[in-house]
Amino acid sequence: MERYIRNTIIPKIGEAGQEKIRRAKALICGAGGLGSTVIANMSAVGTGTIGIVDNDALELSNLNRQYIHKFENLGKVKVNSAKDWINAFNPEINVKTYQTRLDHTNYAGIVKDYDFIIDCFDSFNSKFLLNDIAVQTGKTLIHGGVTEFGGQVMTIFPGKTACLRCILPDADENLQVLKGVVSPAVATIASIESMEALKLILNLGAPLANRLLCFNGLEMTFRKLNIERNAKCPLCKNI
Ligand SMILES: [Zn+2]
Repeated sequence: MERYIRNTIIPKIGEAGQEKIRRAKALICGAGGLGSTVIANMSAVGTGTIGIVDNDALELSNLNRQYIHKFENLGKVKVNSAKDWINAFNPEINVKTYQTRLDHTNYAGIVKDYDFIIDCFDSFNSKFLLNDIAVQTGKTLIHGGVTEFGGQVMTIFPGKTACLRCILPDADENLQVLKGVVSPAVATIASIESMEALKLILNLGAPLANRLLCFNGLEMTFRKLNIERNAKCPLCKNI
């Protein structure tokens, strides 16, 4: 337990809380920029089981932000590179990797083994897919997104709180844009997602449910927008 003493001396965690963290199973979708910090944070706190979904190989242009991957792993698949990082940092963690492009045909067998999902994908389209999967499976989803110097985070309890399609019912999810983004913005958003995950595991505090946290790194502002379920949501209106 020495490894986690700075966790367990927090009265709201204690050894019982650490045991909850050890038993937790987190599915991290995306081993890129957001994934790097979420993987680092969830490994550091001692999450017992971490699943990682990613289909890509490491490219040089990833390394402005995806710091868990080594330069020498260029061209190799990211899930393996991420697993190597976790094994070196915290060998107690049970790591499961899924080198696949998540879609409507393969998600059920993956998602069922996890307590919740953390969105670390980087395309609009895959974020909506994860939102749909969460609503269909009832799994809690921690959504995060980044652009340039900022981003946003929201936690979705399907059927209970607003989902992505509640707030963006007409979004063109096939929009393909290469967005610029800097590492400190990505790491900030990913750390907020990790904090949401830790709160979920420990059942502490107030999740960012029905609240969209918007971070602007240039102005250094954090704004929370109150949102609510949309009775006309094309996805969750009947749940
Ligand atoms: Zn909805």
